[in-house]
Amino acid sequence: MNNKKLRVCHYPQIPCKPFIVEVNDLNEAKLIFKTLADYDLFQFKNRIKPDYCNSTILEEWDKEKQKWLSWCDEETGIDDLRQYFEFIESKLDNCILSKKEIIERVRNCAGLIDIKEDEKHIYAYDEQENKHCYFRFLENINFEEIFKFGVQEVDKERFFNILKTLDLRLFLMPEKIYFINNEEEYSKLVEEYPSQFMDLENAVGINWYEDNIIVINVLLIRKLTKELIEENPHFSYEKELNIGIWQTLIHELRHMLCDSAVIIYDNEVPIEEADEKKVEEYCREIFEDKVRKMDYICFK
Ligand SMILES: [Zn+2]
Repeated sequence: MNNKKLRVCHYPQIPCKPFIVEVNDLNEAKLIFKTLADYDLFQFKNRIKPDYCNSTILEEWDKEKQKWLSWCDEETGIDDLRQYFEFIESKLDNCILSKKEIIERVRNCAGLIDIKEDEKHIYAYDEQENKHCYFRFLENINFEEIFKFGVQEVDKERFFNILKTLDLRLFLMPEKIYFINNEEEYSKLVEEYPSQFMDLENAVGINWYEDNIIVINVLLIRKLTKELIEENPHFSYEKELNIGIWQTLIHELRHMLCDSAVIIYDNEVPIEEADEKKVEEYCREIFEDKVRKMDYICFK
């Protein structure tokens, strides 16, 4: 995060001399910031000291100038430690990769040739996998362009708003996501992708990696949901249908991210995560922790 020498300067009552603590990294600084602020408040609440006006700043040692200067994060330009951590946390939450970062990674990735760029994507040919790759820039994703719902009725606004809260890297590579609601839609789709196939009777979702396509078999999800309701009449069909679609979608998106992410580093998505059990675990976790907490009934 930062290799420079750092110190926290705390002014318990401005103006005054600062209380100084040297720290090894930004996480340590964060803890000291919080501890000192809590300590001031504790003293005030327990009438150890009167009303106060404190301030804490972070400084870094400048080797050239041989003096302590205010800290500033070089990459983001943020010079407030609290703001910096808010930024990092929001970034982690959505795991977003910037356009600049995606372009850099694609251009530096061995085996990717014929690189072309437009304002929304960067394309390349993957020599090892013998396939065209497609990387979408994740700022301002247009979900409308990705999803092909067929005859499925959907509350798009609700659906897209929930998608925006997920790890956006899930949408790095799928060029299109098709919902199949009947055999006719399936026939049309395989006409478009003649080398592909899906077992409509048994697979609720599939990745067609070679074409960067995900298919959600809503036809089968409906059939399975009906069977579930027959066994458990007190369940709600609509709710179970929506759970089925959401979980299948997250599952397939996760597969695509884990299995074909040449530009995602191993410390970001470890290779073991591609395991079927791990993918299903991720899918359940995301559904329970995020999607279920929102109004996730988007499909009729
Ligand atoms: Zn799977």
